[in-house]
Amino acid sequence: MAAGGSRVVLLGPPGSGKGTQAISLAEDLGIPAISTGDMLRQAVAEGSELGKKVEAVMAAGELVDDAMMAAVVKERLAKSDAGSGFLLDGYPRTESQAETLDGILATISASLDHVILIEVPEQKLIARALGRKRADDSEEVIQERLRVYHEKTAPLIAHYRARNLLREVDGDQSIADVKTAIRTAMDSR
Ligand code: AMP
Repeated sequence: MAAGGSRVVLLGPPGSGKGTQAISLAEDLGIPAISTGDMLRQAVAEGSELGKKVEAVMAAGELVDDAMMAAVVKERLAKSDAGSGFLLDGYPRTESQAETLDGILATISASLDHVILIEVPEQKLIARALGRKRADDSEEVIQERLRVYHEKTAPLIAHYRARNLLREVDGDQSIADVKTAIRTAMDSR
């Protein structure tokens, strides 16, 4: 597979290691890792208009509304560094967001190349999430994030499987082995 030109979505529950993998893979592939969670956290830290709007929603472990996210992602994907590919970490998270992403890509005559699902057993997810929890995250918020994932984001698995874009990777192994598994999954297409 060529180093550039990949448009990749990393899918997986909170605590599955998407963020870690996104950064490492993006570096290898020479494409930007785009984490909507990081972008929103930065907006909150800066106290921007967007940050003020999303702060409470994020703190509660709920999803920021699709229209707001569409604006964030449209602007980010329009930047020149995303022109030859990108690795999305944390977007799309709803069916509506998946449609928005397709629409954005259609305007540049592009489409997704890979959707990688990082799978980790539920109990491990909870243990991992508690281990890395941010100071203001309560256990309830972590549980809420998982609930929201199952309700709103997990349906995307079937969505992308039906389009034959989905590849499943065992996320319950070392960071290096997960990365190797993702590279193998990407090369197999
Ligand atoms: P993350 O770091 O990806 O877990 O994102 C942290 C938080 O940011 C989430 O719990 C949501 O509140 C919000 N967020 C990030 N990405 C999205 C998205 N695609 N749609 C809605 N909310 C999002």
